[in-house]
Amino acid sequence: MPLNSSITTIKGVGEKRRAILKKIGIETIGDILYHAPFKYRQISDAKYLSELNHGDEAVVRAAVSSKPILRRMRRNFSTVTFDIYDGRTIGRCIFFNQPYMAKNIFEDSSYIFIGRVDANRGIKQIQNPILEKADAELMPVICSYKLANGIKQKAFRNLVRKVLEQELGSISDVLPSSFRKRYGLPEINYAFEHLHFPDSVKTANLAKYRLSFEEMLMFMSALQNIKKENEKLKANQYIIDNRMLDKYYKSLKFELTSAQKRVISEIINNMKQPFVMNRLLQGDVGSGKTIPASIALLIAAKNNKQAAMMAPTDILAGQHYNTLLNLLKPFNVNIALLKGKMPLNEKKQILSGLKNGNIDIVVGTHALIQKSVEYKNLGLVITDEQHRFGVKQRAVISSKGNNPDTLVMSATPVPRTLALILYGDLSISIIDEMPKGRIPVKTRIINNNKRLDMYNYVKEQIKKDSRVYIVCPLIDESDKLDVKSTYELFDELSRDILKEIPIEILHGKLKSNEKLEIMDKFRNGEIKCLISTTVVEVGLDVPEATIMIIENAERFGLAQLHQLRGRVGRGNNESWCFLVTSSEQTTAQSRLDIMRNTNDGFVLAQEDLNMRGPGQFIGFKQSGMMDPRVLSLMGDVKLLSTIKDAITLLGKKEYEKENQIIKKAALIRYEERLKSIILN
Ligand code: ADP
Ligand code: MG
Repeated sequence: MPLNSSITTIKGVGEKRRAILKKIGIETIGDILYHAPFKYRQISDAKYLSELNHGDEAVVRAAVSSKPILRRMRRNFSTVTFDIYDGRTIGRCIFFNQPYMAKNIFEDSSYIFIGRVDANRGIKQIQNPILEKADAELMPVICSYKLANGIKQKAFRNLVRKVLEQELGSISDVLPSSFRKRYGLPEINYAFEHLHFPDSVKTANLAKYRLSFEEMLMFMSALQNIKKENEKLKANQYIIDNRMLDKYYKSLKFELTSAQKRVISEIINNMKQPFVMNRLLQGDVGSGKTIPASIALLIAAKNNKQAAMMAPTDILAGQHYNTLLNLLKPFNVNIALLKGKMPLNEKKQILSGLKNGNIDIVVGTHALIQKSVEYKNLGLVITDEQHRFGVKQRAVISSKGNNPDTLVMSATPVPRTLALILYGDLSISIIDEMPKGRIPVKTRIINNNKRLDMYNYVKEQIKKDSRVYIVCPLIDESDKLDVKSTYELFDELSRDILKEIPIEILHGKLKSNEKLEIMDKFRNGEIKCLISTTVVEVGLDVPEATIMIIENAERFGLAQLHQLRGRVGRGNNESWCFLVTSSEQTTAQSRLDIMRNTNDGFVLAQEDLNMRGPGQFIGFKQSGMMDPRVLSLMGDVKLLSTIKDAITLLGKKEYEKENQIIKKAALIRYEERLKSIILN
């Protein structure tokens, strides 16, 4: 059976199971084999309760020594507890919110318990463990898979076993043996078997390494092919009017940085060619990416092509619309803003303007890629804050034109090795310089006892016409989480310490118009302080804003904190970022320390990558652009450089044969998936 046949060809897998597995990207037999466990536990590592300390991730072999008791505390909260005996001491096991466990656990049966130890209750307690029956069939290593609701670990394991029984021995290896030898990689059949049923964690890791290597090599090789093909695609060849560009530069209130100038000429040179542009523009928050984008839009419009600019939030789209109206005022181009929700007749007008070609440039959110939006001759598509969109969305909008050029922009600096995997199909332009006169934002970590000082400073600065952002993790109060919410904080502050100051709440659930109105007022100073959620995370540009307060800062990742901090320090005044936290968790602390110690987005990205690994670094928001299989196999940072090395090697003459084999396999594996995603 070929590995790309549907999982429904497996006996016992029906429509229901197919739908569940599709949610985690599993559609074929091969997908099952390539779905790597995220964790391995060796049974021989089992310890006695007495050997364990508070916080340990433990493997314990023990018998259930009391009847499991279910307690329902409140709605949505229950516990199941029972005693366990490991032959030396008695401990306890507790499950939170898994009431069914009371019926699944049997007194006197022995299990392997895998979970975290709580030693603060006088008795060693294992919380929410993974359970394995300690019987004759017990395997030496227990694998845990990331799965969707509706399928249990054991059921998935049985599925894998079925597939292996059927396929093992007949799977052909796409990596030539010379290549495997060079990089110390085991053969494919061995790898699959030991990925899922290893005899030790060591062999499991070797198997996983091999598959990660293969998958990433294939993915990168396929991306490179696509890039080469793209570079041959015919497209619009734009005529560049230098007089017009001079006029544009003269109209600016500032001098462009040399990085901006370089990037602009890269874009222009690309647009002059008769080939499609597929370019990524990377630059740290505040480095001035909007200027090069506006030039590309202008050039397209003046060559009688329509251009679209897509932003991830309507607040940002609104801002870009205003910025473009300003920047392009002297050039007589027709610019429109397409909002998700807007009065029907206004919307109709814009839609017909796009269809008949009256509108030159349109700005909007993913409203731009809805079916109902038709363009007369779309020539250029720019997506801002690319990391918020998947490649799929990018592709849909591109499909609305005839090989339109694309420029994607991102402020998340991606380390070079990773960029090759994420953006291997794109040419890259980088703005690595900040506009003159910027003062680096100062960052402080604030504990509750410093709150008052902080608010006093806020008041002082607002008197000098500063604007202040306060970001909370939640919109409304929650009884489950001990976290600040916008409404709660608004109540507190507007009644008390900031009562003389015009404050407003901003969050994603407000109507589009309300959001834009609030932002306008914040911009012009009618509102001085915004209490908001992370809707302000990307792109907003209010140079008067000099203070960013982030509540429960420990809940945000480095990239997010950096983006939020990037909302201030955009003018020429000294700016502050206050990270408010009461968390004493060491990982959270060290993350905030890193924030305090550097303002360099590139350094932060590298730290983030090191701390969380590539899979997490790319994260769910990006996962739409990555193949789920590649994402789950993303190895460590070192692997990325090995792959880069291998790709370079394959480009050499001695490895021509290997290169052909791998290229072919990569195309077969990814042609469908990638082309449907990336090409249009
Ligand atoms: P980002 O790269 O984060 O998208 P923006 O394009 O929003 O940055 O630019 C940030 C701010 O810097 C804007 O107010 C913009 O007008 C200003 N700016 C852009 N380029 C320069 C420059 N060369 N000198 C001074 N200010 C600039
Ligand atoms: Mg921007």
